[in-house]
Amino acid sequence: MSSADTAPDPGSLVIAVDGTSGSGKSSTSRGVAERLGLRYLDTGAMFRAMTWWLLREGIDVRDVAAVAAAAGRPRIESGTDPLAPTITVDGVDVSVEIRGEDVTAAVSPVSAVPEVRARLLELQRDVIGDGGIVVEGRDIGSVVWPQAEVKVYLSADPDARAARRAAEEGGSDLALTQESLLERDRIDSGRATAPLTMADGAVHVDSTHLTLAEVIESIVALAVRVLPGAREGS
Ligand code: C5P
Repeated sequence: MSSADTAPDPGSLVIAVDGTSGSGKSSTSRGVAERLGLRYLDTGAMFRAMTWWLLREGIDVRDVAAVAAAAGRPRIESGTDPLAPTITVDGVDVSVEIRGEDVTAAVSPVSAVPEVRARLLELQRDVIGDGGIVVEGRDIGSVVWPQAEVKVYLSADPDARAARRAAEEGGSDLALTQESLLERDRIDSGRATAPLTMADGAVHVDSTHLTLAEVIESIVALAVRVLPGAREGS
Protein backbone atom coordinates (compact mmCIF):
# COMPACT_ATOMS: atom_id res chain seq x y z
CA MET A 1 0.00 0.00 0.00
CA SER A 2 1.50 3.40 -0.95
CA SER A 3 1.50 6.36 1.44
CA ALA A 4 -1.06 8.03 -0.86
CA ASP A 5 -3.50 5.19 -0.10
CA THR A 6 -3.18 5.69 3.64
CA ALA A 7 -2.96 9.49 3.64
CA PRO A 8 -6.06 11.41 4.77
CA ASP A 9 -8.10 13.20 2.12
CA PRO A 10 -6.59 16.65 1.36
CA GLY A 11 -10.16 17.96 1.32
CA SER A 12 -10.39 17.29 5.05
CA LEU A 13 -7.11 18.99 5.95
CA VAL A 14 -7.17 21.46 8.86
CA ILE A 15 -4.30 23.92 9.21
CA ALA A 16 -4.24 25.75 12.58
CA VAL A 17 -2.37 29.06 12.64
CA ASP A 18 -1.98 30.55 16.12
CA GLY A 19 0.23 33.35 17.33
CA THR A 20 0.62 36.77 18.81
CA SER A 21 -1.22 39.91 17.66
CA GLY A 22 0.19 41.38 14.47
CA SER A 23 2.44 38.43 13.63
CA GLY A 24 0.92 38.21 10.14
CA LYS A 25 -1.59 35.41 10.81
CA SER A 26 -4.35 36.80 8.60
CA SER A 27 -2.35 37.51 5.44
CA THR A 28 -0.48 34.25 5.88
CA SER A 29 -3.57 32.13 6.51
CA ARG A 30 -5.47 33.63 3.59
CA GLY A 31 -2.48 33.10 1.31
CA VAL A 32 -2.07 29.47 2.37
CA ALA A 33 -5.80 28.79 1.91
CA GLU A 34 -5.74 30.33 -1.54
CA ARG A 35 -2.66 28.34 -2.58
CA LEU A 36 -4.11 25.01 -1.42
CA GLY A 37 -7.74 25.63 -2.45
CA LEU A 38 -8.95 25.57 1.17
CA ARG A 39 -11.50 27.63 3.09
CA TYR A 40 -10.36 30.22 5.65
CA LEU A 41 -11.69 31.11 9.10
CA ASP A 42 -10.60 34.19 11.07
CA THR A 43 -11.62 33.38 14.66
CA GLY A 44 -10.31 36.75 15.85
CA ALA A 45 -13.03 38.37 13.73
CA MET A 46 -15.63 36.36 15.68
CA PHE A 47 -14.32 37.65 19.03
CA ARG A 48 -14.26 41.15 17.56
CA ALA A 49 -17.85 40.74 16.30
CA MET A 50 -18.98 39.66 19.79
CA THR A 51 -17.18 42.69 21.27
CA TRP A 52 -18.68 45.08 18.70
CA TRP A 53 -22.17 43.80 19.53
CA LEU A 54 -21.64 44.13 23.32
CA LEU A 55 -20.45 47.72 22.87
CA ARG A 56 -23.42 48.52 20.63
CA GLU A 57 -25.83 47.05 23.17
CA GLY A 58 -24.29 49.30 25.83
CA ILE A 59 -23.11 46.32 27.90
CA ASP A 60 -20.11 47.09 30.14
CA VAL A 61 -17.35 44.92 28.64
CA ARG A 62 -15.47 44.90 31.97
CA ASP A 63 -18.50 43.43 33.76
CA VAL A 64 -17.75 39.72 33.45
CA ALA A 65 -21.20 38.62 34.66
CA ALA A 66 -23.00 40.92 32.19
CA VAL A 67 -20.80 39.77 29.30
CA ALA A 68 -21.30 36.11 30.27
CA ALA A 69 -25.08 36.55 30.44
CA ALA A 70 -25.23 38.20 27.01
CA ALA A 71 -22.78 35.95 25.15
CA GLY A 72 -25.48 33.67 23.74
CA ARG A 73 -27.53 36.43 22.12
CA PRO A 74 -25.83 37.71 18.93
CA ARG A 75 -25.98 35.56 15.77
CA ILE A 76 -22.43 35.61 14.40
CA GLU A 77 -21.72 34.19 10.94
CA SER A 78 -18.39 33.88 9.15
CA GLY A 79 -17.94 33.53 5.39
CA THR A 80 -14.90 31.37 4.56
CA ASP A 81 -13.79 32.44 1.07
CA PRO A 82 -10.11 33.40 1.55
CA LEU A 83 -10.42 35.99 -1.23
CA ALA A 84 -13.41 37.67 0.40
CA PRO A 85 -13.98 36.58 4.02
CA THR A 86 -17.10 38.03 5.64
CA ILE A 87 -18.40 38.47 9.17
CA THR A 88 -21.97 39.38 10.09
CA VAL A 89 -23.83 39.94 13.35
CA ASP A 90 -27.58 39.32 13.17
CA GLY A 91 -27.25 39.55 9.39
CA VAL A 92 -25.38 42.89 9.38
CA ASP A 93 -21.93 43.09 7.77
CA VAL A 94 -19.53 44.36 10.46
CA SER A 95 -16.21 43.68 8.73
CA VAL A 96 -15.17 47.34 8.86
CA GLU A 97 -16.58 48.17 12.32
CA ILE A 98 -14.78 45.29 14.07
CA ARG A 99 -11.40 46.83 13.18
CA GLY A 100 -12.17 50.08 15.04
CA GLU A 101 -10.07 51.22 18.00
CA ASP A 102 -12.95 50.79 20.46
CA VAL A 103 -13.31 47.13 19.55
CA THR A 104 -9.53 46.51 19.53
CA ALA A 105 -9.22 47.99 23.03
CA ALA A 106 -12.06 45.85 24.45
CA VAL A 107 -11.64 42.53 22.63
CA SER A 108 -9.05 40.85 24.87
CA PRO A 109 -11.00 41.27 28.15
CA VAL A 110 -14.15 40.06 26.39
CA SER A 111 -12.26 37.04 25.00
CA ALA A 112 -11.16 36.06 28.50
CA VAL A 113 -14.78 35.39 29.58
CA PRO A 114 -15.36 31.60 29.54
CA GLU A 115 -18.99 31.89 28.32
CA VAL A 116 -17.81 33.92 25.30
CA ARG A 117 -15.19 31.30 24.49
CA ALA A 118 -17.66 28.42 24.90
CA ARG A 119 -20.16 30.06 22.57
CA LEU A 120 -17.61 30.86 19.88
CA LEU A 121 -15.90 27.47 20.23
CA GLU A 122 -19.16 25.84 19.20
CA LEU A 123 -19.52 28.14 16.18
CA GLN A 124 -15.87 27.60 15.19
CA ARG A 125 -16.19 23.82 15.31
CA ASP A 126 -19.39 24.02 13.22
CA VAL A 127 -17.59 26.02 10.54
CA ILE A 128 -14.58 23.70 10.53
CA GLY A 129 -16.96 20.76 10.09
CA ASP A 130 -15.36 18.21 7.79
CA GLY A 131 -12.24 20.33 7.34
CA GLY A 132 -10.61 21.66 4.18
CA ILE A 133 -9.78 24.89 5.99
CA VAL A 134 -7.08 27.15 7.39
CA VAL A 135 -8.11 28.49 10.82
CA GLU A 136 -6.30 31.34 12.52
CA GLY A 137 -6.50 32.42 16.16
CA ARG A 138 -4.88 31.95 19.54
CA ASP A 139 -6.11 28.53 20.70
CA ILE A 140 -6.89 26.64 17.49
CA GLY A 141 -4.14 24.01 17.79
CA SER A 142 -4.49 23.72 21.57
CA VAL A 143 -8.26 23.78 22.18
CA VAL A 144 -10.48 24.32 19.13
CA TRP A 145 -8.99 21.63 16.87
CA PRO A 146 -6.07 19.85 18.56
CA GLN A 147 -6.31 17.11 15.92
CA ALA A 148 -5.32 19.57 13.12
CA GLU A 149 -2.90 17.90 10.71
CA VAL A 150 -0.76 21.04 10.52
CA LYS A 151 -0.23 23.39 13.48
CA VAL A 152 1.77 26.57 13.20
CA TYR A 153 2.74 29.07 15.88
CA LEU A 154 3.54 32.34 14.16
CA SER A 155 5.54 35.03 15.92
CA ALA A 156 7.61 38.11 15.13
CA ASP A 157 9.57 40.66 17.13
CA PRO A 158 7.36 43.38 18.65
CA ASP A 159 9.12 46.07 16.57
CA ALA A 160 8.38 44.24 13.32
CA ARG A 161 4.78 43.56 14.33
CA ALA A 162 4.13 47.17 15.29
CA ALA A 163 5.69 48.47 12.08
CA ARG A 164 3.56 46.16 9.93
CA ARG A 165 0.34 46.92 11.82
CA ALA A 166 0.97 50.70 11.78
CA ALA A 167 1.56 50.54 8.02
CA GLU A 168 -1.68 48.52 7.54
CA GLU A 169 -3.54 51.14 9.53
CA GLY A 170 -2.21 53.88 7.27
CA GLY A 171 0.66 55.15 9.41
CA SER A 172 -0.69 55.16 12.96
CA ASP A 173 1.65 55.97 15.85
CA LEU A 174 4.30 53.24 16.15
CA ALA A 175 4.79 53.38 19.93
CA LEU A 176 1.04 53.34 20.64
CA THR A 177 0.50 50.51 18.17
CA GLN A 178 3.22 48.44 19.85
CA GLU A 179 1.79 49.16 23.29
CA SER A 180 -1.66 48.01 22.16
CA LEU A 181 -0.28 44.78 20.61
CA LEU A 182 1.73 43.94 23.72
CA GLU A 183 -1.20 44.66 26.02
CA ARG A 184 -3.38 42.26 24.01
CA ASP A 185 -0.62 39.61 24.09
CA ARG A 186 -0.38 40.03 27.85
CA ILE A 187 -4.11 39.49 28.42
CA ASP A 188 -4.40 36.72 25.78
CA SER A 189 -1.44 34.78 27.23
CA GLY A 190 -2.43 35.29 30.86
CA ARG A 191 -6.12 34.35 30.82
CA ALA A 192 -7.26 31.16 32.59
CA THR A 193 -9.37 29.75 29.74
CA ALA A 194 -7.61 28.75 26.49
CA PRO A 195 -4.65 31.14 26.74
CA LEU A 196 -2.44 31.92 23.78
CA THR A 197 0.17 29.21 23.81
CA MET A 198 2.22 27.14 21.41
CA ALA A 199 0.18 23.95 20.96
CA ASP A 200 1.70 20.47 21.29
CA GLY A 201 3.04 19.49 17.89
CA ALA A 202 3.06 23.04 16.53
CA VAL A 203 5.87 24.26 14.29
CA HIS A 204 7.21 27.66 15.34
CA VAL A 205 7.64 30.08 12.44
CA ASP A 206 9.34 33.39 13.31
CA SER A 207 8.33 35.80 10.56
CA THR A 208 10.53 38.72 11.71
CA HIS A 209 12.99 38.39 8.86
CA LEU A 210 10.77 36.59 6.35
CA THR A 211 8.59 38.01 3.58
CA LEU A 212 4.91 37.11 3.49
CA ALA A 213 5.59 34.89 0.45
CA GLU A 214 8.30 33.02 2.38
CA VAL A 215 6.03 32.41 5.37
CA ILE A 216 3.23 31.16 3.11
CA GLU A 217 5.69 28.90 1.29
CA SER A 218 6.95 27.34 4.52
CA ILE A 219 3.41 26.45 5.64
CA VAL A 220 2.41 25.10 2.21
CA ALA A 221 5.52 22.90 2.42
CA LEU A 222 4.42 21.58 5.84
CA ALA A 223 0.96 20.76 4.45
CA VAL A 224 2.35 18.94 1.44
CA ARG A 225 4.67 16.99 3.74
CA VAL A 226 1.87 15.69 5.99
CA LEU A 227 -0.57 15.15 3.14
CA PRO A 228 1.21 13.96 0.02
CA GLY A 229 -2.14 14.26 -1.82
CA ALA A 230 -2.40 18.02 -1.12
CA ARG A 231 -1.90 19.93 -4.34
CA GLU A 232 -1.85 23.64 -4.93
CA GLY A 233 -5.25 24.92 -6.07
CA SER A 234 -6.82 21.45 -5.59
O1 C5P B 1 -6.69 37.96 15.58
P1 C5P B 1 -7.17 39.27 16.16
O2 C5P B 1 -6.04 40.14 16.60
O3 C5P B 1 -8.15 39.97 15.30
O4 C5P B 1 -7.95 38.83 17.46
C1 C5P B 1 -8.53 39.77 18.31
C2 C5P B 1 -8.59 39.23 19.72
O5 C5P B 1 -9.49 38.13 19.79
C3 C5P B 1 -7.29 38.68 20.29
O6 C5P B 1 -6.46 39.70 20.84
C4 C5P B 1 -7.79 37.74 21.36
O7 C5P B 1 -8.12 38.45 22.54
C5 C5P B 1 -9.07 37.21 20.78
N1 C5P B 1 -8.93 35.88 20.19
C6 C5P B 1 -8.95 34.80 21.04
N2 C5P B 1 -8.92 33.54 20.54
C7 C5P B 1 -8.85 33.32 19.22
C8 C5P B 1 -8.79 34.43 18.33
C9 C5P B 1 -8.81 35.70 18.85
O8 C5P B 1 -9.01 34.98 22.25
N3 C5P B 1 -8.87 32.07 18.74
